[in-house]
Amino acid sequence: MLVSDTIHDLVIVGSGPAGYTAGIYAGRAQLAPVLYEGSVTAGGALMNTTEVENFPGFPQGIIGPDLMDNLKAQCEKFGTKLVRDDIVEMKLAGDIKVLTDGSGNVLRTKSVILATGSAYKEIGLVNEKRLSGRGVSWCATCDGFFFRDQEIAVVGGGDSAMEEATFLTRFASKVVLIHRRDSLRASKIMIERATANPKIEFVWNTEVIDVLGDQNVTGLKLRNTVDGTESERAFTGLFVAIGHSPRSELLLGQVDLDPEGYVKVDGRSTRTNLPGVFACGDLVDHTYRQAITAAGTGCEAALDAERFLAGH
Ligand code: NAP
Repeated sequence: MLVSDTIHDLVIVGSGPAGYTAGIYAGRAQLAPVLYEGSVTAGGALMNTTEVENFPGFPQGIIGPDLMDNLKAQCEKFGTKLVRDDIVEMKLAGDIKVLTDGSGNVLRTKSVILATGSAYKEIGLVNEKRLSGRGVSWCATCDGFFFRDQEIAVVGGGDSAMEEATFLTRFASKVVLIHRRDSLRASKIMIERATANPKIEFVWNTEVIDVLGDQNVTGLKLRNTVDGTESERAFTGLFVAIGHSPRSELLLGQVDLDPEGYVKVDGRSTRTNLPGVFACGDLVDHTYRQAITAAGTGCEAALDAERFLAGH
């Protein structure tokens, strides 16, 4: 275990648009922030996205990982130290916060910005977990390629499901979108794109109750949510796109969370219930959950941290 004498002004936990934007602002404010990007999750959810069409300033669109590379380079330009590791333990009460990383380094800091984002939700089926990586996936851009000329299912009715289904038609012979209700939650433009795609079939009022297959996915067991009838249908892949949950496990018992696990912040600010601890991005956001809103709250968190440090 490596314990440094240094007391940092600010450590940012998490990358993605929120963490990196906090890094840009705090670096530029000369707070010499250390930003923990995460060992496997560096760059956050946009690393698994294709084209981002609605981030202001890019009229031609930009590929998700390219956008994250740009934000990262902008952090480095202002002297933010990026660490490709996880924070595995945090003690956030008191004037000096103590954080331990995955390599055993112990950092002490006067303030912390939490920007750990959210993780893919699972349906919660035993065989979904067992067959994960063997036909069950949460990331079309990562795994779509493996399903060339196959018939696959996507579960969900939001923008993620529309995006995944549309993207998967590049590879699959057919994509069946299974939704538990008879209307979609997704935005109009995404629905139009998916419904216009001849390779996508919609199956309404249906939930997945089991994933079938011994070594690999061979099919799904389905239940009609209106009349309760059950059926089976052959698929070689299942893409789960049913939303995200905040990644706040490490914060349990320390920072106030709401019943769904999102970090509670004070009004329009990024202040948590603990002085010197700020939260931003998908970790606090039930509602908007866009790259640009995450970046906006990352900026706010850096400004809140800067003001806090100036007052102490
Ligand atoms: P979401 O909007 O919360 O939608 C989740 C969908 O999954 C809903 O249709 C929900 O059904 C369904 N669902 C939830 N739990 C389920 C379960 N256990 N079994 C079956 N179905 C379940 O999540 P999202 O699509 O990931 O989008 C999250 C946010 O990111 C949104 O604000 C979205 O606009 C944004 N986003 C934007 C883009 C883009 O603009 N390019 C792309 C992706 C995501 P119900 O409808 O019945 O609740």
